[in-house]
Amino acid sequence: SMVKPQPHVVLFLFPAQGHSPPFLSLATRLHHYWPGLTITLVSTSHHTSLIRSFLPLDSRLRLHSLPFYPADHGLPASAESLADLPVAQFITFFKATETLYPAFDDFISSLVSNASNHAPLCIVTDFFLGWTVDVARKYKVFHTTFLTMGAFGGAVFFSLWLNLPHTLTESDRFTLPEYPEVVMDRSQLSKYILEADGTDEWSQFFKRQIIFLHETDAIVVNTVEEFEPLGLGMLRKTLKFPIWPIGPPLAPAHQPSSSKSEDETAIMTFLDSQPPASVLYISFGSQNTIPHEQMMHLAQGLEGSGCSFIWVIRPPIGSDPRGGFRDDWLPHGFKDRIKQKHIGLLVHGWAPQLKILGHRSTGAFLSHCGWNSILESMSHGVPIIAWPVSADQSFNSMMLIELGLGVELVRGPMESSGPTKEKVEEVVDVMMEPNEKGMEIRRRAKEYRDVMNKAWDEEGGSSMESLQQFVQSINTAAGNQ
Ligand code: UDP
Repeated sequence: SMVKPQPHVVLFLFPAQGHSPPFLSLATRLHHYWPGLTITLVSTSHHTSLIRSFLPLDSRLRLHSLPFYPADHGLPASAESLADLPVAQFITFFKATETLYPAFDDFISSLVSNASNHAPLCIVTDFFLGWTVDVARKYKVFHTTFLTMGAFGGAVFFSLWLNLPHTLTESDRFTLPEYPEVVMDRSQLSKYILEADGTDEWSQFFKRQIIFLHETDAIVVNTVEEFEPLGLGMLRKTLKFPIWPIGPPLAPAHQPSSSKSEDETAIMTFLDSQPPASVLYISFGSQNTIPHEQMMHLAQGLEGSGCSFIWVIRPPIGSDPRGGFRDDWLPHGFKDRIKQKHIGLLVHGWAPQLKILGHRSTGAFLSHCGWNSILESMSHGVPIIAWPVSADQSFNSMMLIELGLGVELVRGPMESSGPTKEKVEEVVDVMMEPNEKGMEIRRRAKEYRDVMNKAWDEEGGSSMESLQQFVQSINTAAGNQ
């Protein structure tokens, strides 16, 4: 007799910490909306064990690990994830992950030939693992690319690496060939793309990914239709297959717990003691930091403005990120003064970002504009003061400012010296002091909180509908084979 095959979807995660929460969120939601679905998460051995440690014990997710030895590729043996490496070595790591091909091919082959009918209906992978589309074709499996970055950021990123438009002009300003309406500036680019000439390893790698991207069957994006009509429109203009926004993601079940719980208590007590919407939250994400001189300017500007703040602070660029924090990295007496006046709190470990953004006293977020931070801030109606430190962050910031959801403090990584003390003070005052511009930005941010939160409404939420269409398309493709 014919046994209906059990539905099975394979999610292949790129071994970089920030990429995993949106994949785990997608897995949780697929389970919720697709009863009986089996999901297997695939990644390198080290990364799957990291994921296992984040999963609840009763998780129904299966894990499959592919062998990966960084030392075989000229990387330090301990460099098992992107987070373990300086940016200059990222490219070696990216290329090393291309050697996972045969092991992944073997895994899919074993599923397809399995008598218990566990052939996958769909392979969902990170943009950085473009070659998986070859494997999907070979075994006639529906292939989907999951973009963990924003739609606008993604579209700009693809266009830049594919065309290197800044190399075709002497001017600092240039436009993107597919999107002439987008005017960019050299200061928004990273060192790696500025130095690229099309024959370098970085361009070659990203070009390969973008070419593979054109071969995929569909894209799911970690964004919201109503938040990013512009970016989604740009992607849809150049990629002629379904593009489904399925954000914002669920909050991760577990956060790295390197911070002590006293920190969290101190943070919440501080917030509780402040007036509504009066505190500026400052963070450069999970790994970035700024140069020492800019740290000084930020501190001086904050003191000048007199605004209350919570600052998640790391040792400046060039010092040991895991070493202790030295007081002389900040203006003389800064720490004591902010403590005495009860206007600021420095956080040295991992901050409970979602709790801070959700607190009524938090009025704005001075952010490096990492995509997760932006989604989280918008979901809580908190506007942004933008200080992007690497390339896709500057595209995210550009979009936010265009939407009137933030103000620019720094344009991008190549802005020579960073902001002066006066610039910090001026921008913080615009956002935090009573004035028309700041009020309007805060009002808009509140509007977008509702937009973000409606995306998963059971009735007509746009991300909810996208996910359903995604599930339907997988089933249709499987039925048509
Ligand atoms: N995060 C946090 N506490 C911290 C630093 C980061 O909870 O002290 C979380 C933050 O909520 C977000 C993620 O880590 O979910 C950072 O991702 P993002 O894309 O903003 O920046 P990245 O770290 O990838 O540069």
